[in-house]
Order: sequence, then C-alpha cells, then structure tokens
Amino acid sequence: MSRFLSQRFSKLKEYIPGEQPRGMSYVKLNTNESPYPPSPEVIAAMNMGEIEKLRLYPDPICRALKETIAANYGVNPQNVIIGNGSDEILSFIFMAFCDKTTGVCYPDISYGFYPVYAQVYGLDSREIPLNDDFTLSADDYLNAGRTIVIANPNAPTGLSLRLSEIERIVKANPHSVVAIDEAYVDFGGESAVQLIKKYDNLIVIQTFSKSRSLAGARLGYGIASAPLIADMEKLRNSINPYNINLLTQLAGEAAIISQSYYDKNCAKIVETRKYTEKKLDELGFNCLDSHANFLFASSHKLTGEQVYSGLKSRGVLVRYFPKTRIKDFVRISIGTKEQMDIMLNALKEMLFQ
Ligand SMILES: *Cc1c(COP(=O)(O)O)cnc(C)c1O
Repeated sequence: MSRFLSQRFSKLKEYIPGEQPRGMSYVKLNTNESPYPPSPEVIAAMNMGEIEKLRLYPDPICRALKETIAANYGVNPQNVIIGNGSDEILSFIFMAFCDKTTGVCYPDISYGFYPVYAQVYGLDSREIPLNDDFTLSADDYLNAGRTIVIANPNAPTGLSLRLSEIERIVKANPHSVVAIDEAYVDFGGESAVQLIKKYDNLIVIQTFSKSRSLAGARLGYGIASAPLIADMEKLRNSINPYNINLLTQLAGEAAIISQSYYDKNCAKIVETRKYTEKKLDELGFNCLDSHANFLFASSHKLTGEQVYSGLKSRGVLVRYFPKTRIKDFVRISIGTKEQMDIMLNALKEMLFQ
C-alpha cells in the first residue's frame, strides 16, 4: 500500500475472481462461463465495418440495446439500465440505495462481491444466515429495514426461491430497495422481472456472461421502475457515461435476437448438470439441488480445498471457498459432457487410487 491511499480503503478486502489461466490448458470449470460459443448472429455483428467505427465513441445511452431488451421483457426502455457486466449494476445499487435506510443485507452464503461493495461504499451490512440446509427463508427478510440483495438462484449453492417467496419479500419491504440478482435464472429459476410493474422498490439484475456466452464482452442490465433507473443513470453518467463499448452493444442486441440459440444451449447445460449430478452421487458426493449452470458438491472424504487441489493437479479447475460453513464443498461449473467426464475421471482417480 502506498502512503497516498485514502484512509477509508486501507482495510478494504478486494474481490478475488476465479483463476483465468492463460493458454487454456485446463478444463476450466471454475467461473461458470458457458462452454458454447456466442451465437452466429453475435459473431456476424462484430464485422470489420463495425471494428473500424471504434474510432468513434459508442452510444452513451445504448438506445438500440435498451429498446431490444425492453421489448424482450415487455417493459419500457426507461425501465432498463445497461452495465459493464452486472457487477457494475450491483455497484450502482450499493452506491445509490443503501444509506437512506440503515444499510444493506444479504445471505451469509452468497455472491462474494456483495460484502466487497458494502465495504467500498462504507455501508452497514448484515449477513443473514441461510438455514442449515442452505435454503433461504423469506421470513428472515420481512421488514428488513434496509436494502436487500438476494441472488436467485443463489451462488454458490445453486438453490432457488419461488417467485411467490420473492414477491413476499418485495411486498413486505415497501420502504427499502430489493435487488434480485438473476445471473443464473436461465438455467431453471423463476424470474421476478414482471413484478417491476407492480412494485417500485424492486430491481432485477441479469447478465450476458453466463447463459449468453458473453462473459468476455462485459454486459449486464437492470430492470426496475423508471425512477430507480433514472437514479442509477445519474450515477452512471457521473462516473463513466461510455461504459458499454460499441462492439459489446452490438453483441448484446444480436444475443437477445438469437434467444432460441441460447435456449438450446441452456437445455443442453441443464441436461449435462443432471448427468453430472448422478455421476457425482455415485462417487459419494452430495450435491445441492442446483437451478444454475454449476453444482455445489461435497464429499465426506475430502475437504473442498483437497478436491480443488487434486483436480487442479489433474488439469481441471473448480472453485472452493475458504468459509467455515462451506469448506467441504466445491463449486463445479457445467461444461460440455466431455469436460464433465474428464472431471469425473479425475475424481475417481483421486478417490480410488
Ligand atoms: C457471475 C455473477 C455476476 C456477475 O456477472 P457479470 O459478468 O459482471 O455480469 C453477478 N452475480 C452473480 C451471483 C454471479 O454469479
């Protein structure tokens, strides 16, 4: 740390992304990317003519992309904000909507970025423990008195909440913003997007990184009532009005238009998840009931860290979390069936040789 860093960041613990090894010699099942390429329409949209336009600034309001997303959900463009990844939308939410109430709350086992943003913005944060089986009880979030952030399906557990439970939480907190992070909704969750028409305190966040094969393009969006979106737009325009580059805007539009291509990929991933879950079960692993593109699995023989290191030395990357409640688990992204077989064979070798 230099002697120039602001005092308020001196104790900041930053977010640590999953490893991104260069050279791709690993079977990479650690950051929940899609194993399938972007759609042919997305690839065609990024042609030479568009690349030449990179000398110009991109559209700061992402008009075309906003209209495409809005039409896709039957909402208005004023209900949509576009972010450089959904992480940026989350950042706006923590920045904008948490200090008028008494702070922010989220489950104790959830996306690792939430506590980081709470620290960056100096917020009072409360971690609400999930039940022993890692399910979330809506009852724990009624009249929270603070901003609520919930990933649904949750990460890294993969468990999901019914829409009726989400609605109970939104309804019971009319004076707080409720943010539902739907990064994994396309793999088996129930989306809360339509509830934004009924509740002005709800923000739903989605991403192009997981189901739409565009993690490298950095694109996410929030859907909410027009006043909430206007507040976030104010921050976006005050920090980085050109937050979405020109090629990414085009990729996003083309991706929404090729939804059926991605639906097929999601169906394949769900099928591979079921296959992998069965095989892991045969190897003595316990998997939580995933509605996402990963499995959260524990072995009674090995800790999460041991599974992670054993797999890494055999060329397979997965993720483990050094946190007491989940130290026996690894999170395994769902790749192609061939990739999962490589992972399963490596596990067999570790367990039985
Ligand atoms: C991956 C992920 C995100 C962020 O994705 P972006 O690539 O920034 O869009 C947000 N929330 C959860 C729960 C995630 O797993």
